[in-house]
Amino acid sequence: MASIAHNYEAAADLLAGRVILITGAGDGIGRAVTLACAAHGATVVLLGRTVTKLEAVYDQIVAAGGERPAIQPLDLAGAGWDDYLRVAAAIESQYGRLDGLLHNAGILGDMSPIEHYDIEVWQRVLRVNLTAVFALTRACLPALKRSADASLLFTSSGVGRKGRAYWGAYSVSKFGVEALTDILADETEENTRVRVNSINPGKTRTNMRRAAYPFEDSSTLVRPENIVLPYLYLLGPDSRGITGQRFDCQA
Ligand code: NDP
Repeated sequence: MASIAHNYEAAADLLAGRVILITGAGDGIGRAVTLACAAHGATVVLLGRTVTKLEAVYDQIVAAGGERPAIQPLDLAGAGWDDYLRVAAAIESQYGRLDGLLHNAGILGDMSPIEHYDIEVWQRVLRVNLTAVFALTRACLPALKRSADASLLFTSSGVGRKGRAYWGAYSVSKFGVEALTDILADETEENTRVRVNSINPGKTRTNMRRAAYPFEDSSTLVRPENIVLPYLYLLGPDSRGITGQRFDCQA
C-alpha cells in the first residue's frame, strides 16, 4: 500500500490552471476535497445529485476567491450513457480541457449478510459505485488523454481490498473499482500522460460512516478536511509518473 511522504506540503498554487471534475462534491469527503482543490487554484466541476448542496459549495468557493466552479447535476443511480457524454461535452465546451477526475461519490447500500441481501439494493450500489465510475471515466478519457498531465483517481475502501462480513455490494463494488484502477493504469501507462491510482480515505466522519457504524463515537474520527492532502498530491503535478498504486489516507 502506498502513502504520501509525511512531510508533504501542497504549494498554494499546486492546481492552478487545472480543470478537475469531482463526483459527490456536495458533501462529506468530496466536499472537503473540492474546497481544497479550489483553494489550491483548480477550477472544479462539481458533480452530484443534490443541487442545493452543490450550490452551497459553489458559493463557498466563490466567497473564498477561488476560480469560479461549474455545477453538473447528475444522479448516478439513474444516469445513462447520454448523460455521461453530456457531462464530458459540457466540460469540453466550457473549458476545452480536463486535467483531473476524482470518482468520490458512493453509497453504502445495506449492511447485511449475502444470504439476505436485497437484489434491488445490490444493483443500485453496483450502478452508483462501479458502473457509473466506468461510464464517466469512459466519457472523459478522450479529454484526459489530451491533457499534458492528467490524474484519474478512484475512491476505494478497506473492504475493497479485503472483503468482510455484511459489507455485501459495497465491498464488491470497491473491489471492482480497484480492478478498474489496475486495468486503466495498465492501458494508459505506455502511450498516454494519464496516471491512474486508487485512494482509501479510511475511517472518516461523514454521513456514510455514521450509517455504517450508527453507535460509534464520531468524535474519535478524523474530519474530511483533515485528509485532503493525499488527494491534492495525487491530483496535482507532484504525483506525475505515479500510476497503478493504491494509496491510504490514514495509517
Ligand atoms: P457521504 O455519504 O458523506 O457522501 C457521498 C457523496 O456521494 C455525497 O455527496 C452524495 O450526494 C454523493 N452521491 C451518493 N449517491 C449519489 C448518486 N446517486 N449520484 C450522485 N452523487 C451521489 O460519503 P463519504 O464522504 O464518506 O464517502 C466518499 C467516498 O469515500 C465514497 O466513495 C466512500 O465509499 C468512500 N469511503 C468513505 C469512508 C468513510 O469512512 N467515510 C471510508 C472508506 C471509503 P448527496 O449528498 O446528494 O447524497
